[in-house]
Amino acid sequence: VLQVRNICKSYGANHVLHGVSFDIRAHQVVALLGPSGSGKSTLMKCINLLERVDDGQIMLNGTDITDPRVDADESRARIGVVFQQFNLFPHMTVLRNVTLGAIKVHHWNRHDAEAKAHVLLKRIGMDGKADSYPDQLSGGQQQRVAIARALMADPELLLLDEITSALDPMLVGEVLELVTELKTQGTTILMATHEMEFAHHAADRVLLLRNGSIAEDGTPCEVMDESQDPATQDFFAHFR
Ligand code: ATP
Ligand code: MG
Repeated sequence: VLQVRNICKSYGANHVLHGVSFDIRAHQVVALLGPSGSGKSTLMKCINLLERVDDGQIMLNGTDITDPRVDADESRARIGVVFQQFNLFPHMTVLRNVTLGAIKVHHWNRHDAEAKAHVLLKRIGMDGKADSYPDQLSGGQQQRVAIARALMADPELLLLDEITSALDPMLVGEVLELVTELKTQGTTILMATHEMEFAHHAADRVLLLRNGSIAEDGTPCEVMDESQDPATQDFFAHFR
């Protein structure tokens, strides 16, 4: 689905990514791990074209989305994104939040968008909250709605950037459960997370970002338990 080839990204003299390469195959759930400031969010923003890469290519199902001749809005529309916080518009109902992008960006008619939204909300057990406003929901419910919204246009890839980091610990589980459910439905996911236990049992693959490139790429066991690299062992030792 995704091929990231040797991408580089600097902010001024701060070389955040230099030579990041990896692939994600269809239906894989890939956990992106790394210390704070290692560039996980920057990498996700590059994939979503919120940031332009300085060098390298990102192929999405065969399209080089970093090619300036490829329409960036069209590429963005093929990728679903959920961030840590501030995902929903507070002055709009759940239904409106979920349908807004489909209507405004994808030019769906309201009826089709609402029908799809109800299906997705039902799937996450939130259809009863369609007319509620975000501040009437728990943080976990809000993130589940944000995920539903990201799924509206059947994205080829779902990017989840620390979607549980701002949540009360009590609410983390329900959001991670939804990710597990999406995995069983075959959604292709790249998720940056500090939830090491979850990454270990739910991810098909783990990428460890360090010093601007991919230091480890393998199964959770290979990377988290069996790596012989002292720096990798040190990183995971802090979380166990
Ligand atoms: P965290 O785990 O804390 O979310 P991260 O791995 O997502 O960290 P990034 O947010 O990608 O890390 O930041 C990587 C580096 O890029 C940091 O040194 C940060 O200061 C820098 N950086 C990120 N965004 C910008 C920006 N818009 N302008 C300048 N520097 C930036
Ligand atoms: Mg981040």
